[in-house]
Amino acid sequence: MTFSEKVKNELASIENKKECCWKAQAYGMLLFGKNCSEEAISLHTVNKKIADLYADLLVSLTGCIASVTEVGQETKEEKALYIVEIDDPDDRREVLRFFGCGTSTKHFEESIIERDCCLHTFLRGAFLSCASITDPNKEYHLEFVIGDANLAALLCDLLNKIGLSSGSTVRKSSRIVYLKESENIEDLLTFMGAVKSSLELMNIKILKDVRNKVNRVTNCETANIEKTVAASSMQVKSIEWIMTHKGLDYLPEELKTVAQLRLENPELSLSELCEISGLGLSRSGMNHRLKKIIEIADHLKIKM
Ligand SMILES: [Zn+2]
Repeated sequence: MTFSEKVKNELASIENKKECCWKAQAYGMLLFGKNCSEEAISLHTVNKKIADLYADLLVSLTGCIASVTEVGQETKEEKALYIVEIDDPDDRREVLRFFGCGTSTKHFEESIIERDCCLHTFLRGAFLSCASITDPNKEYHLEFVIGDANLAALLCDLLNKIGLSSGSTVRKSSRIVYLKESENIEDLLTFMGAVKSSLELMNIKILKDVRNKVNRVTNCETANIEKTVAASSMQVKSIEWIMTHKGLDYLPEELKTVAQLRLENPELSLSELCEISGLGLSRSGMNHRLKKIIEIADHLKIKM
């Protein structure tokens, strides 16, 4: 099951305590469904639960009968589509009247979401009708696909009202209202009542953050190790050259000690070398001596 399906199943299973909230949820489903006019009232969904919920709500609130038709899938991968429709023109007029939608122009009946409790369920209804959410393991993205520009603007306003900043764009003939930040998505899920899904999203985010951090640290460590190895092999080459051509005694005492130390411990970083040397040298002091050895070797090579 995709994350989006889980969210929708969770939302579609919530029982509202108050009649006003059921009405607001049905209103959200109606407005953001496929059609909402005298000519057609319909909702398309691949989720049977949502289709049944919508049909049940319409009949229990308005007494109007909605039919649920399953349109078979063409391939095995394709999901069946459920179409919920009100077939009778009188019933359609009755539904529009019940929700206070004008019959000619699209009118938003604000009184339905006047109470705070109802805004939650209205947005839940809108989500069930036209939204989806990307697998948070891949990307943080939640979007509503809306046919009508005024409705898209209304939704942006409502999201804004509850402190969520959304973006909007046009895709084909639809308006897309989307949320990108994981915090925004979490907040909206919680607001609509999908608490379990919101927690799951939070957990995925934490896991992802930890994984990224581990990768960053590992990358950083790898880079440091590579740097240490490159520097050390340069130093060892110079020391070996001096050893072969002049002998280590050629070096002043303080450099000879460091040279021997480096030969015996080619894998150590500068700080580690300081630590085991017992010379009380700082990192830069140690570095300075090793550089000096390389200089001496380079100088000798020129002379020879
Ligand atoms: Zn309410």
